[in-house]
Amino acid sequence: SLNPALQTLPVYQPGRPIEEVAREVGLPASDIIKLASNENPLGPSPAALAAMQRVLSNLHLYPDGNAFYLKQKLAEKLGVETGNVILGNGSNEIIEFVGHAMMGPGVDVVVSQYCFAIYPIMAKLFGANVISVPARDYGHDLPAMLKAIKPNTRVMFVANPNNPTGTLASREDVVNLINQVPDHVLLVMDEAYIEFLPEPVDLLPLIRRGQKPNLLLMRTFSKIFGLAGLRLGYGIAQPELITALEKVRQPFNINSIAQAGALAALDDAEHMSKTRQNNAQGLQFLEHAFRQLGWEFVPSSANFVLVKVGEGQRVFNDLQKLGVIVRPMGGYQLPEWIRISVGTAQENSRCLASLKQVLSQKC
Ligand code: PMP
Repeated sequence: SLNPALQTLPVYQPGRPIEEVAREVGLPASDIIKLASNENPLGPSPAALAAMQRVLSNLHLYPDGNAFYLKQKLAEKLGVETGNVILGNGSNEIIEFVGHAMMGPGVDVVVSQYCFAIYPIMAKLFGANVISVPARDYGHDLPAMLKAIKPNTRVMFVANPNNPTGTLASREDVVNLINQVPDHVLLVMDEAYIEFLPEPVDLLPLIRRGQKPNLLLMRTFSKIFGLAGLRLGYGIAQPELITALEKVRQPFNINSIAQAGALAALDDAEHMSKTRQNNAQGLQFLEHAFRQLGWEFVPSSANFVLVKVGEGQRVFNDLQKLGVIVRPMGGYQLPEWIRISVGTAQENSRCLASLKQVLSQKC
């Protein structure tokens, strides 16, 4: 019989292909804008594209199972050893490694109320209990999360900035959390959006100094690097933890194209800074407009923004008819909100105009 966890676990519902949406709404696919998954509107780095082209003729060979060069370059950029780094098929897979290594029946996993959807999915899949701590101003209430720790708590997930809310925990709260989290709890600091921050709390020194055996940092190539389609994320931690996680990793989880693309992307500082600039300007544009229009939104530190629109699902449907795809938040228990990823200046303007149109139709 099936794993009992599967009886209550829903199948993850991804968005539909752009071409399908285009067909349904009667627009050419090129007229659809997708601002739904916090992707990079500028696309991948041109250097990464060229590097990926170059490896295509070697696709008859298995990838390097240890991603030697990519790990080496990442370690160099981060100022850590290669033994501090593990690569995943998206950082989603790193979360799954944590599940294999730490979770099971009787284990508590502490998350925040509006957390990244995959944390509770993985915890439930492995039979663990999800302890969801009420949010504070839509973000993490880190002191309350610390208080929620019990002897059977094994993992705590904190995304900073957080998805789907874009909130950022204060430096003071993060430092407190790191200092106070007990040794029996693995603290996963999910830094998927860290590169968008002008002044991030830098936790890498803790890794370099070997100070925190129960700290795992998680990052991804899906956001600022514009390589979501490659599926590549990484974890940074003490070698003992990395070795444990390596035991549950499939040998060829990082394909050859991803290794080549990521290696080149890491060296393309110009693409990163353009992306950062586009994002800062786009966020400012959207948030300024929301403020002027009197629409409630959650000030964001990431590459998306949560805005309150009334009936989120209806607004999502109506926007889609105009060729604008955003993310309705009903699945996150925020049915009155939609999440809009920052696009190019042109995409942001079109999204805002469409949203105004859709919301005025309601009155
Ligand atoms: N963590 C957070 C907070 C995210 O928002 C995402 C992607 N939406 C991920 C992890 C997973 O990213 P990926 O698997 O593409 O690396």
